[in-house]
Amino acid sequence: MTEAAQCDVIVIGLGPGGEHVADSLAKAGLEVVAIDERLVGGECPYFGCVPSKMMIAAASTLREGRRIPGLAGTSQVSPDWAPVAARIRDEATDDWDDQVAVDRLVAAGATFVRGRGRITGPREVTVDGQTWVARRGIVLNTGTAPSAPPIDGLAETPYWTNREVVKATELPESLIVIGGGAIGCELAQVFATFGVPVSVVEVAERILALEEPESSAALAAAFADQGIEVHAGASIQRVEHREDAFTVVLGDRELTAQRLLVAAGRRNNLADLGLEHVGLDPAARVLDPDERMRVAEGVWAVGDITGKGAFTHVSMYQADVAVRDLLGQDGPWADYRAVARVTFTAPEVGSVGLSEAAARAQGVDVVTATGDLGTRGWIAREPGLIKLVADRSRGVLIGASAVGPSGGEVLSMLATAVHAEIPIATLAEMHFAYPTFYRSAQPVLRALLG
Ligand SMILES: Cc1cc2nc3c(=O)[nH]c(=O)nc-3n(C[C@H](O)[C@H](O)[C@H](O)COP(=O)(O)OP(=O)(O)OC[C@H]3O[C@@H](n4cnc5c(N)ncnc54)[C@H](O)[C@@H]3O)c2cc1C
Repeated sequence: MTEAAQCDVIVIGLGPGGEHVADSLAKAGLEVVAIDERLVGGECPYFGCVPSKMMIAAASTLREGRRIPGLAGTSQVSPDWAPVAARIRDEATDDWDDQVAVDRLVAAGATFVRGRGRITGPREVTVDGQTWVARRGIVLNTGTAPSAPPIDGLAETPYWTNREVVKATELPESLIVIGGGAIGCELAQVFATFGVPVSVVEVAERILALEEPESSAALAAAFADQGIEVHAGASIQRVEHREDAFTVVLGDRELTAQRLLVAAGRRNNLADLGLEHVGLDPAARVLDPDERMRVAEGVWAVGDITGKGAFTHVSMYQADVAVRDLLGQDGPWADYRAVARVTFTAPEVGSVGLSEAAARAQGVDVVTATGDLGTRGWIAREPGLIKLVADRSRGVLIGASAVGPSGGEVLSMLATAVHAEIPIATLAEMHFAYPTFYRSAQPVLRALLG
């Protein structure tokens, strides 16, 4: 083995957070060694957010085209997947090549190493026999990989995960999606909008089970309108693949389709990372950081592996916190009261903070109110809702959902309110431009005041 090289910080895993840490610290003048075994940028630009949102942008355009009759004239919409596949390959992912991101990192001053990083001692990391020792510490951002539930027969079939679906060059003839969470619902609706018969199988009692029941119901209604079959509360007995067709056997029926997409969970990449060398449990499924993102002496963790919300914006937020700590700056340190999340379906489901059930489980003195999208919803012929969750004793919002066109954008106002703990009485007397979607929050805020 060659002699260990010295540096200031080693970053293992360059998802959005790790890349941001490496870039920021290198620009601040630190000697940074940045390691990734796959693609710099991680899941989001190549297999996650960006390609899936390109698919959604295409599907939204088809949807708008189909809304012309009855609103604006006539239209004939002929879906074609070719431009979607081409944009993902050429514009989003450079054909799954990260050279631009590697060059950006190197230009910032970091040393990039392609390979699998493993902790081999305190502040020490080894990649393919080469060892580095970091004066300040190690930052972990190893992210997740798709995982499949232990369903009889599934592992032997050529099912898709997000890693394959983003590379699809042709539409499937028909599709079953296992998993009715955000990713499963987004992708199910994309393909249905392109004319593919789609069924969603969800073991929980409702799709988007982590969202408010009202949000799940709104999306379920949209799926029903679109002809997307939803099998919620399903028990999957086994999966088979024969002659270019998948069969998913449920308790009372069998579903068959040409393709099967499994979007039923992610596994944190923590196995065989050498966690035991820094006093951490090598079998850990999550690394729970303190408010400065420290998980052990000389080790920081950011992103999905921290279990604080598997979102790019959480990974980037935590990266900023870790950078401040590594540079010896003052906070602000991490605060998760107002984590925002958006499921980019139609209607879009945006939410922030606590759901009603989560708030009640925490013993908060909860008051809630719900309303529709008011005048703008009627004008645009778009259904949706606003649900607000408040702490009655403090008179502030602690959670909110905005469902409808641009639900994620309408959410911004409510996320600000939860984050800054703006008194509900102050919010309710804001000027709400008429007839915006966000104006529909005003009667809901007033209802909270009683
Ligand atoms: C289909 C889909 C759609 C999504 N849409 C959204 C969205 O709209 N909005 C949103 O906020 N989030 C979305 N997400 C989630 C988002 O992609 C992740 O939260 C985001 O990528 C942050 O992950 P991360 O920073 O933890 O690391 P990841 O992006 O998972 O990257 C981890 C990196 O670490 C590397 N690595 C792992 N182990 C090692 C090792 N030992 N040595 C070297 N390298 C290693 C991997 O190669 C990888 O490049 C989506 C995810 C999927 C799958």
